[in-house]
Amino acid sequence: MSRRENSLCRLSHLGRTRRTIEPERTIEPERTVEPERTIEPQVIINYQQSAEYFESIYVKNTSGRRILSFKSLIDGISDISSHCSSCSVAKISLDLERRKGLSTECVFKCACGWVAVICSDSDCNTLSINDSFTWGCECSPVGFSAGTSLLTTMDLPCPDYRTFKKAEVNCKALKEDAFAQEMKENLARERELAIEANSFVIVEGVRYAAITVCVDGGWSKRSYGHSYTANCGIGVIIGMQTKKIIFADTRCSTCIVCDKGNIENQDHDCPKNWSGPATAMESHILKSGFAQSRLHGLVYRKFIGDGDSSVHANIEDVYPGIKAKKN
Ligand SMILES: [Zn+2]
Ligand SMILES: [Zn+2]
Repeated sequence: MSRRENSLCRLSHLGRTRRTIEPERTIEPERTVEPERTIEPQVIINYQQSAEYFESIYVKNTSGRRILSFKSLIDGISDISSHCSSCSVAKISLDLERRKGLSTECVFKCACGWVAVICSDSDCNTLSINDSFTWGCECSPVGFSAGTSLLTTMDLPCPDYRTFKKAEVNCKALKEDAFAQEMKENLARERELAIEANSFVIVEGVRYAAITVCVDGGWSKRSYGHSYTANCGIGVIIGMQTKKIIFADTRCSTCIVCDKGNIENQDHDCPKNWSGPATAMESHILKSGFAQSRLHGLVYRKFIGDGDSSVHANIEDVYPGIKAKKN
């Protein structure tokens, strides 16, 4: 860089610093009266027309920490930098912060009226930060109290209980849908492999692809030192070719809302679907799994399982005319 360029750089730097320290001298009266002329329309559309803009509670407390989208931060710095190089005022400060749980929107405003927003959620994120927090708690697994204790200790803002619960219900529904979709794909793959291997069986005059499955279930009998029978049981069927789950279900004999007899909550998402003994849960789940197989064009011709004879006796006669064989 030549000496002349160097001195020009210093001059431009000094000029910008002076404008920041003494903005009053450089503000043009016309711009102060009509700041709308200098606002870039695109930024205004993103910021002021957002759905919750008018209902927001603004804070201007800069203490603590925030989680911001890295893309939003880089874009924001770049926008502010390029605005400073073209604006005659170039005096930018944090105008306000809009917070909703972990989600933060920092609005930076120039004295000329131009605004830039740096936020927690940008297009590159698949889930909003409040939803991500709930999913993280589900996977950890910890509840609302443990999750918010962690955030508070780290000096981060927390979502409120209602927002968390709403995201939790949504998370549960999405997980169930994804699991059902995955099982459907696994069933289709098992059928493809059985057809490739020319493995078929005729049931009630219809030809089905015949496969071998692995079955198991579980329900806890007792905790240490107590006599205890579980309220919930699980059963799983795994395709032997893909080694993936093709059926899974649960049985639950209790519900905290129903057990309290609260008639105001009759439309709740009730988990209670079992009134028999806990010992019969596993065989009931596996039997319904076998019974549904023909809907997917499959017959579970052979099965591998542990030594529970009552379960095997229950599922071997599911298909009319043939017996499912234990391998
Ligand atoms: Zn400006
Ligand atoms: Zn219930």
